[in-house]
Amino acid sequence: METKLLSAGPQAIEEAARLLRAGEIVGIPTETVYGLAADATNSAAVKKIFEAKGRPQDNPLIVHISRLEELSEVVREVPPQALRLAEAYWPGPLTIIMKKSAAIPAETCAGLDTVAVRMPSHPVAREIIRACGLPLAAPSANLSGLPSPTTAQHTFRDLNGRVPLIVDGGPCAVGVESTVITVAGDHPTLLRPGYITKEQLESALGEEVALSSAILNKLADGEVAASPGMKYKHYSPRADVVILKGDFDAYRRYLESHPQEGAYAMCYEGEENRLPLPCIPCGRADDPASQAHALFAALRQADDLGAKIVYAHCPAQDGLSMAVYNRLIRAAAFQVIEL
Ligand code: AMP
Ligand code: MG
Repeated sequence: METKLLSAGPQAIEEAARLLRAGEIVGIPTETVYGLAADATNSAAVKKIFEAKGRPQDNPLIVHISRLEELSEVVREVPPQALRLAEAYWPGPLTIIMKKSAAIPAETCAGLDTVAVRMPSHPVAREIIRACGLPLAAPSANLSGLPSPTTAQHTFRDLNGRVPLIVDGGPCAVGVESTVITVAGDHPTLLRPGYITKEQLESALGEEVALSSAILNKLADGEVAASPGMKYKHYSPRADVVILKGDFDAYRRYLESHPQEGAYAMCYEGEENRLPLPCIPCGRADDPASQAHALFAALRQADDLGAKIVYAHCPAQDGLSMAVYNRLIRAAAFQVIEL
């Protein structure tokens, strides 16, 4: 199949809407990462997403809407906590899990009785949803296991020949996937950290949010993931990623004493010339938003450079840094060296 890459504009939006209504899949920009969209109510269309990405069948998809009125079509009921969160952070990078309605087929939710819903803020994503008049299932538009795409070019590289259209809406502002919270159980629980932090969720809800253990730790063998996406080695370039935990001097000393062919170092801005390896800059040391924005592009750059091994600073684990840590630790398949 030939893959068209069109700049966002009326023609691209109309073409995307036409394909989506016809049960096709389309790569679309969102503020988090690029998504691979299909009609969330059409099981045949949703199956094409799993095929194109090579996504495991048991990993459910996020359903995207453009107006709050559309929520009642995809969920059985809207818990008051979901309304509070939606009021505070929609449109935006927050996904809320609720009980699903009959309109959402089993394929979209990988057989679960819940559905993950988000209202993106990216104007192009919103216009595409409005133009096709459908809730859109849209996981990240990468091949399963690879870093999520934060530009249309990343998306094209992964999905060329597998999708009829990718809409280019420029680089993603946030750069990591949405925060995922469930309000379908007894207590609101954070399943995936993102740009909206645990503290922000708690302030909107007025109650404590539990943290799924899979966020910061590797699941034990046989442990069931509350969010199936958290169990895979994920976001990984071909290169091995190793996280070094310690301050800048310890990081530099470790790299000096472990010379290795094909090794690269991820670094913060301003450190490029202070490390003994070729460096891949990834945001500013004191600015986790800039790290989130740069992370996936940096991991992809490692592959473009032919890196065999990539070292990275260990991010903090709180606030927005939790999202960066959560992605990096999976890219590294949990390899962390304490310095
Ligand atoms: P992606 O869209 O590729 O960023 O992945 C969607 C994420 O949301 C994955 O980690 C899924 O496991 C998670 N997710 C989607 N639907 C549900 C659900 N009903 N229950 C729990 N996690 C979900
Ligand atoms: Mg993904």
